[in-house]
Amino acid sequence: MDTSKDYMPLITYRQIKRQKSVRAIHKELKKQERKSRLFDFRTKLYKAAKLDNERLFDLTADQKQSIQTAPSENIDQFISRIENSNVIGMGGGFPAAEKLKSFMSHCKGSGILIINAAECEPGLLHDDWLIRNRQAEISYGINILSRHFKFEKIYLASKQNLDTSLFTTDSDIIAYQLDYFYPAGQEHILINQILGKQIDHNAIPAQYGILVFNVQTVIAIGKAEQGEIMSSRYLTAANLHTSRAVVVKASFGSNILKTSEAALGNKASYLKVYAGHGAMSAYKVESADIINAQTSFIAYAQAVSFADTSACIGCGTCQRKCPVHLPIAGLIKYAGFGQKIPEHITRECIACGACSYFCKAGIDTRKYILRGM
Ligand code: SF4
Ligand code: SF4
Repeated sequence: MDTSKDYMPLITYRQIKRQKSVRAIHKELKKQERKSRLFDFRTKLYKAAKLDNERLFDLTADQKQSIQTAPSENIDQFISRIENSNVIGMGGGFPAAEKLKSFMSHCKGSGILIINAAECEPGLLHDDWLIRNRQAEISYGINILSRHFKFEKIYLASKQNLDTSLFTTDSDIIAYQLDYFYPAGQEHILINQILGKQIDHNAIPAQYGILVFNVQTVIAIGKAEQGEIMSSRYLTAANLHTSRAVVVKASFGSNILKTSEAALGNKASYLKVYAGHGAMSAYKVESADIINAQTSFIAYAQAVSFADTSACIGCGTCQRKCPVHLPIAGLIKYAGFGQKIPEHITRECIACGACSYFCKAGIDTRKYILRGM
């Protein structure tokens, strides 16, 4: 998360109960959902928007930048090409080349590749769109990775029931269908879910021979091998008031307000523009804010108002919903009286916002946990 921004959830359980269009989407998804397996599903969050159509709003207008086109001859050449093409992760912005180097130095035999199309936050729809509409590009990226690295298994994780025969990969890929639990896309939770392996959330999975890349990063790796520098990304632009959304391809550095207008049209005066990782982690957009690799989501939404900590009724829901089992009930109430949140709680918090989403008193609890007050 960009620490200079004030992130907040744009939707909460209380609000959604009152919003008919979102309730209808939830109902539809609940019907499709399979029974939960293996995992302790504390938090279920369904989609908050529906795609308006399958058309892509490509706002990049031929801004491709190229470097070289001859194929990489060896692994070192390949990694330096990924580095020179500025390929970075779409979640935390971690450089893909660093991940590959770490994987290479720790994994002497064959490892596991997990392609993350989990679409973690409830406002996002572009990963789903990509696996339905960009199968050739995803396959190319997978083939490039498996040409240079040995993988025992390759998983493609999404919330869809995927037909892997649509992907033309040299090695078999295993489609892993995730349930609607939150935060399914968080790297360590995803690994636990698919492989049943518990990795400390501060550790890098590549050091355990597990390479996790977002589906867009896999596409960008393929493009880098073809000589393209990573200069744009796919994102979801949603009007959370109407629950309609579109998929947008936007260049890094584009103005967010202009992008939202191009994708969603003019907004009603009672709505504000937000951007961020998704409907659970968004900030209010200022006129100079630009799109970067971490901007997954742009939204028109009504201003969210949260109660202060004195409203806490001590119900314990926040703690029961916390996916990493943090003992936070009781802390919020007393944070209002100047008591500090213990440092280890702030450190272990994965900033998912599930506690804020479910808080019975309408408090943005995550904010207090992260600030340690
Ligand atoms: S305390 Fe942190 S990890 Fe737990 S639900 Fe809240 S934001 Fe998520
Ligand atoms: S869910 Fe909200 S009201 Fe309930 S204990 Fe947690 S902070 Fe207090």
